[in-house]
Amino acid sequence: MENDKALRKWLDDFNLSHPLVIAGPCSAETEDQVLAIANDLKNSDATIYRAGIWKPRTRPGGFEGVGAIGLKWLQKAKAETGLLMAVEVANAAHVKLALDHDIDVLWIGARTTVNPFAVQEIADALQNSEKIVLIKNPVNPDLALWVGGIERLYNAGIKNIGAIHRGFSTYEKTKYRNIPEWQIPIELRNRFPDLPLICDPSHITGRRALIQEVSQQALDLNYDGLMIETHHDPDNAWSDAAQQVTPAVLKQICSELKIRRKTANEDDYKYEMKKLRERIDSVDTKLLDLIGSRMRIAEEIGKLKKEKNVAILQNRRWNEILAKMKSEGEAIGLTEEFILRFFNAIHQESIAHQEKVING
Ligand code: PEP
Ligand code: MN
Repeated sequence: MENDKALRKWLDDFNLSHPLVIAGPCSAETEDQVLAIANDLKNSDATIYRAGIWKPRTRPGGFEGVGAIGLKWLQKAKAETGLLMAVEVANAAHVKLALDHDIDVLWIGARTTVNPFAVQEIADALQNSEKIVLIKNPVNPDLALWVGGIERLYNAGIKNIGAIHRGFSTYEKTKYRNIPEWQIPIELRNRFPDLPLICDPSHITGRRALIQEVSQQALDLNYDGLMIETHHDPDNAWSDAAQQVTPAVLKQICSELKIRRKTANEDDYKYEMKKLRERIDSVDTKLLDLIGSRMRIAEEIGKLKKEKNVAILQNRRWNEILAKMKSEGEAIGLTEEFILRFFNAIHQESIAHQEKVING
């Protein structure tokens, strides 16, 4: 599949003066809940109302969605508000029910994108459909799998496609629920500059306090829109309570977002520079996170050495690390001088952490 100017037609047709906003609860819970939130969103920047009807849950026993009955509530919400309706689909049966109930936008969830059989089944069920179909990144940081999903839709004659970046799962503890790995959607954008790209800061952050910040980062990277989970009583939501915001907060977030202009000449330079700096900032934050994790491991080593009464400084081991880093550093264009200064600083800090565990 090649980039195609027509890919962004569906988005341009909305004629919005601001980024596209998709808002609504993680899950449809009751008819009253669906209607109350939709009505609160009527006078907001939201164009599309989202609500999960079938919920993929990590473990059994959680709330797995209200099922097809919820589609009727969405039809009512559409009639009352004029908002377009979006649901997650994971198989052909979901697609059929969604189409039967006149749902406007279908999205493929992160746990489905990982499975080419499931994506193909959905693409086949939607053959030549005019519906808008959005595909979230797979849970693992695999751009090829994400692109493969987009291609399956495109090859099935679906022309109104968009990608949703919802972050990637990791075993490491970070401040995010799903780490953004911005370089992956940036690479997607480089390959398909006209494919609408939407950020889902709710599933990236897992925490409502970080949604503004990540939304702004996305807009600064020239994303086309945001999908933000919105609930009239977030703390009591049946799924993803910690990351949902009220409709009032959603409006506040939208009003505070700075929408970057993309204009000619010297403004172009400023714009490009800003994007590069954002990338540098995100790498720096990651670097710090990594160094923090390294120190936590050093502390574990300190504990072990304490238990076994072993000295902190192990010269042979340290020289092996330095030699290895010098050669790996050289391979990626880093000078020996830098590697020595950088790792000596890290080593010193690491010894200080071990010292604290052993003597502190
Ligand atoms: C959702 O949007 O509620 C959802 C389940 O998201 P994801 O597929 O990104 O986990
Ligand atoms: Mn959710």
